[in-house]
Amino acid sequence: MIDVTLESVSKRFARGGDTAAVADVDITIAAGEFFTLLGPSGCGKTTTLRMVAGFYFPTSGRIRFGTEDVTRRPPNKRDTGMVFQNYALFPHLSVAQNVAYGLKIRKVGRVESKRRVEEALGQVHLAGYGDRRIDELSGGQQQRVALARALVIRPKTLLLDEPLSNLDAKLREETRTEIRRIQQEAGTTGIYVTHDQAEAMAMSDRIAVMQAGRVQQIGAPQEIYHRPATSFVARFIGRSNVLTLPVQGATERTVTVGLPGGGEIDVPAPADHGLRQGETAQVSVRPEHIGLTSTTEAGALPGRVAELEFTGMATNLVVDTAGERMQVAAVDVPAGIAVGDQVGLRLNRDRMWVVRP
Ligand code: ADP
Ligand code: MG
Repeated sequence: MIDVTLESVSKRFARGGDTAAVADVDITIAAGEFFTLLGPSGCGKTTTLRMVAGFYFPTSGRIRFGTEDVTRRPPNKRDTGMVFQNYALFPHLSVAQNVAYGLKIRKVGRVESKRRVEEALGQVHLAGYGDRRIDELSGGQQQRVALARALVIRPKTLLLDEPLSNLDAKLREETRTEIRRIQQEAGTTGIYVTHDQAEAMAMSDRIAVMQAGRVQQIGAPQEIYHRPATSFVARFIGRSNVLTLPVQGATERTVTVGLPGGGEIDVPAPADHGLRQGETAQVSVRPEHIGLTSTTEAGALPGRVAELEFTGMATNLVVDTAGERMQVAAVDVPAGIAVGDQVGLRLNRDRMWVVRP
């Protein structure tokens, strides 16, 4: 395992027009960490991963493995194992032949190769499957063969690009736990790409949230969820209401904002918020951090139920308040509540957070 550093990495494609596919990305991934690049389709995740693998070279910036500069080193000299969304297995070769591929290229001897293939198949819980043909395996098993093929060369970094997207929902959840276990047991640095925020949260030590080629925020899943840096992160990770509210005062770590319909509230903020009285603040509040109460409760935000949906675990509501439509996920709702009812919303101030636009 090895730490991986990207320093101001940018990539422009010859046919990419004016916009960079990846712009000024700075990331330091610790040795042994499971690190995820997360963001919507087209935000530059694959391009970033391919620069780490060496399939693309950056237009500018540096990539280091440990202290070594690998920016322009070819892929086969980087000790990286790569797993793709479509598995990219050779259908006419057996499982063992597929896994042995990287060893053959590296001219590893027959006896040693056989031993390492068995070891890698054991790591992914496919011991005894070596003689099978690829088309005799399920999608999940094929994905494990792809993992074994990446691991057999004992890579310093394991790079995975949306490896679960071709699996059905249940298998996806099982396999994500498996991938995490395999990465830990192999003792390699894992860099994982996904557009699925739940998957990223469940698997990762840390996540970089990307949008339009840029990193919006890097942090542990809890940090990104509870203290999103920007309105984009707040909305992309889970669900969130992002309210635009007038600033009535500010200290280093709180911003006092006026609420629609009167009243004010002190909201926790990052130290660099830079907001002053007279400006507007963007405030994120998650649906599960809003309680339902009566319209008469002091400090409650009055509103009218516009939509209501019972999901079992919670009731999801859309409530129209003065100027804002709020999403609410309430575990406790008054019996008989219906669309059109007047309700009060109790905002959990401590769970609100000031974000950048
Ligand atoms: P993601 O993996 O997050 O979906 P990509 O890294 O594949 O995103 O793509 C980022 C951007 O770069 C997109 O706008 C995509 O169209 C563009 N792009 C990717 N590969 C190429 C290429 N080979 N040539 C030109 N543009 C590309
Ligand atoms: Mg991609």
